[in-house]
Amino acid sequence: MRKKRTIRLPCLLLTGLGGITLVAIIAIGLAAQPLPGPVAIATDLPTATPTAPAPPPANPLEQQEAALQPRFRAELNGLAQAPRYFIQASVDPGTGQVTGQMSVEYTYRGVQPLTELAFRLLPNAQAIYGGGSLTVENVTQKGRSLQTTLAQGRTVLRVSLPQPLQPGQMTALSIAFRAQVPAGSGQGYGIFSRSQESLSLAGWYPLLALYQDGWQTPPVPAVGDAMWAETSLYDVRLIVPSGYEVVSTGTAIERQDKAGQSTWHIVSGPAREFALAMSNRFEQRETQVDGVRLRLYTLPARAAATAPDEALKMMAAAFKAYVARFGPYPYTEFDLVEAAVDIGGYEFSGMVYVDYNRRVRGPFEPYRYLSAHEIAHQWWYNLVGNASVDEPWLDEALASYAAVLYLQYAGDAQGAARLLESRKADYGLRRPGDPPVDSSALLFSNWVAYRRTVYYHGALFLDELRQTLGDERFFALLQRLQTRYRYRMMTTGDFLREAEDIAGHDIAALWARWFR
Ligand SMILES: [Zn+2]
Repeated sequence: MRKKRTIRLPCLLLTGLGGITLVAIIAIGLAAQPLPGPVAIATDLPTATPTAPAPPPANPLEQQEAALQPRFRAELNGLAQAPRYFIQASVDPGTGQVTGQMSVEYTYRGVQPLTELAFRLLPNAQAIYGGGSLTVENVTQKGRSLQTTLAQGRTVLRVSLPQPLQPGQMTALSIAFRAQVPAGSGQGYGIFSRSQESLSLAGWYPLLALYQDGWQTPPVPAVGDAMWAETSLYDVRLIVPSGYEVVSTGTAIERQDKAGQSTWHIVSGPAREFALAMSNRFEQRETQVDGVRLRLYTLPARAAATAPDEALKMMAAAFKAYVARFGPYPYTEFDLVEAAVDIGGYEFSGMVYVDYNRRVRGPFEPYRYLSAHEIAHQWWYNLVGNASVDEPWLDEALASYAAVLYLQYAGDAQGAARLLESRKADYGLRRPGDPPVDSSALLFSNWVAYRRTVYYHGALFLDELRQTLGDERFFALLQRLQTRYRYRMMTTGDFLREAEDIAGHDIAALWARWFR
């Protein structure tokens, strides 16, 4: 028999802060219950070690609704053929071991019969994730083991299908996996790592590669981002020690506590991947913008260059500017979580990591720029996707220029001008012989050259494009891209076509200066 009782949230502290209302400041420790709604405790809990994925609910789309604001829930109807993941995993933050079982439902939308599926095992890469491992123990289809092969330094798993998948046909695979999260950041950025403070889990489960005229499995570059996936729906149950806060993609809809363990049930809504961070030391602050709960998770610091309240205020102001300039954010929640990230920050669906030291040691302006950049990736990367390895400029230049747009929108014209001028001074305008803005990340071996070309020359191009189009048409272009490519992939060709259409003339001369 299932017995449930409801725990009330701790009392909420209501504080006015420069036009922003903090709806909750909750220090999270063993006693805190930070879920958005009532927390249910059941007595018939799953076992600590997952042995089978949770059975797909009768109507998975209905459960996904919790991740979206009511006015956007109908968008799920357009995602009926999106990949669906049902993952159950236990995470031991002490040893860094993750044991998981997942079921993935994949509907094939290609033309020729499909004989294999490809997954990315990103933690096996030397770069970006580096230092840990992700191992698939078996793959089954209807209870039958399937043949698998590893490629590209164990970062690609190919699964042979006994019966080719026909266009429009769906298959469900069950996959048992284990991940080992390294202590420290190893050779990577720190996005798959653990410390005494927290655990960062990106790319921690087998991720379906993108299918686009064949499986797209580019090598993991030395710089930039390797996450390239189509919009999917995740239903995840995580078993973690009690007292740990789980911050993730999507929205937690239930938490069950028993015998020193908590099982978090989280749905993602439309998401390109599912990332999370865990700590028993996070402090949470929350505010709302345009119906979205913005949550900031910081780690304790005696003194910080930027106080958490200031960081939350900045986060809300950036979010507000992006909703106005790019379009609405359809989800119920967005999280900015502090972690140890060597490169400063990293974007995921529904959440971003920002390096602890950047806030605590400062100074404020680079921290503000970094956070604003990462937040903008919710529009450019998560909502509108692009080839992260082949055409990284699309999301990186837009996220870099977004910081300028946010400062201008917030009335800080001087700050915006200073940011643009510093990019020109530090990185210069593009010169003959420089790589074109739309270069692949694989062409670069260091961050200085990569940032100059992809982030800053890309952002300076966008600024020139804005001067050419005028503000009204430039902002209309950004809104149009968000409308037309939402939950899809945008290419450089798409961008150019839409820009020229809105301009009403070709922009060949401008284009040539940055892209040839
Ligand atoms: Zn970025």
